[in-house]
Amino acid sequence: MVQAAPSDQITSDQATASAQISETLGRQRAYFNAGHTQPIEFRLAQLKALKQAILDYQPEILAALKADLNKPELEAYLTEIGVTKEINYAIKHLPTWARPKSVSLPLEQLPAKGRIYAEPLGVVLIIGPWNYPFQLMISPLIGAIAAGNCALLKPSELAPQTSRVIAKLIQATFDPAYITVAEGGLEVSQALLAERFDHIFFTGGTQIGRAVMAAAAQHLTPVTLELGGKSPCIVDSDIQLEYTARRIVWGKFLNAGQTCIAPDYLLVDRRIKPKLLAAMQQAIREFYGDDPAQSPDYARIVNDRHFGRLSQLLPASSAEGEIVAGGSTNAAQRYIAPTILDQVTPEAAVMQEEIFGPILPMLEYDNISEAIALIKARPKPLALYLFTRDAQLQALVLAQTSSGGVCMNDTIMQIAASSLPFGGVGESGMGSYHGKASFDTFSHYKSVLVKNFWFDLKWRYAPYAGKLELFKKIIR
Ligand code: NDP
Repeated sequence: MVQAAPSDQITSDQATASAQISETLGRQRAYFNAGHTQPIEFRLAQLKALKQAILDYQPEILAALKADLNKPELEAYLTEIGVTKEINYAIKHLPTWARPKSVSLPLEQLPAKGRIYAEPLGVVLIIGPWNYPFQLMISPLIGAIAAGNCALLKPSELAPQTSRVIAKLIQATFDPAYITVAEGGLEVSQALLAERFDHIFFTGGTQIGRAVMAAAAQHLTPVTLELGGKSPCIVDSDIQLEYTARRIVWGKFLNAGQTCIAPDYLLVDRRIKPKLLAAMQQAIREFYGDDPAQSPDYARIVNDRHFGRLSQLLPASSAEGEIVAGGSTNAAQRYIAPTILDQVTPEAAVMQEEIFGPILPMLEYDNISEAIALIKARPKPLALYLFTRDAQLQALVLAQTSSGGVCMNDTIMQIAASSLPFGGVGESGMGSYHGKASFDTFSHYKSVLVKNFWFDLKWRYAPYAGKLELFKKIIR
């Protein structure tokens, strides 16, 4: 349903969806062009309103996340509602970010002033996935508001309860000509992508990311693509064993592994592998008990399609690896136990695509160069994790690998620092956000040169005869 026209339900009828979306966009363009979103006071007020709305709707948000993904309340609070921290950061820094910046100019330009103005882009489209369905809609929205844009949000229909709450919250908080939500499936996505936006911010898989970029190219619309991929986790022998095991187990099995920056697979120094495995098995027991199916703190797979896909990745033969923790499943509950696989080769099925579920393959290395070579032979990942105390090894891995971000001696936490831009590189995405990077993503930096009328040197004007030598002396 497109919120701005609550009387009209968007059905699978593409023509109806297109007509409603065009009308909504027309109103948003008019709102933007009228300059309502420009004043910093307006943007600050909207950010505060968004924060208050999240607080007001907190019980509904948590209930929706429980219904859609069986998200434990604490996980949901930390990873979804925690986005309000990002609002506080934007409110604090927005006046500085939005202030025009003076720059120095070369001598031949003087007398003049150079300034850079951050201006909003216009009407932006934000498309989000189902795995952190609230946070991944609201976090980019914070940047869009701070930068002074109108926004149209398209949550995933695969997290329908959360999609509904987002639509309600936005409708209750904002003028739909300013910010609105288009709920629905493929027909809505396609109708949206046929329109011209001033920016498209997409979070999802690499395959749909390509389709989004192709559609955006028709209008030369810039895109931010927050995609996924296989994020490696290297474990050296010089570590604090229990902390390492806990941090890996937490980062991997949070949201049942359905996290874009979850450690996808382990590359473990052969010398530490038996101890690390024992410590991870212990951590799984500590976190989720002897039977994680009974734990209130363990999420479920989002739908039957993903459950089927993940079940296929559990090794049916020793050629595909050996289950050394977990492995049990329950289709009716879409439950897959926290699972660790040993004896996995780079050719195994589980090593071909992003796993995006609670299955953790372990590969081993004798020399770090083998681990680095394996990472470099694959598309650039969204995150790279390295557990080691060895500063030289840290520097080596940093220098020899490329990834969206890196986290040393922990997992996931890199996403929670507003001062660190978050985004991918290569197949894991383009562009970044969070904190100032969000403001930058949704702004155009307009360069302005201001000259005066004090005097007018004629050197650059025709006739040029005899002036070239002078220019060669000035500009070199
Ligand atoms: P998808 O790419 O399948 O979907 C993402 C969004 O695109 C959804 O809203 C979906 O709608 C919509 N969509 C589906 N088909 C189209 C289409 N043809 N045109 C336009 N939009 C479309 O991703 P998932 O939702 O399955 O999320 C999982 C992926 O997202 C993983 O690869 C994960 O790594 C990545 N991800 C990346 C993050 C990051 O920050 N970099 C964060 C979280 C996830 P609908 O669901 O309604 O069909």
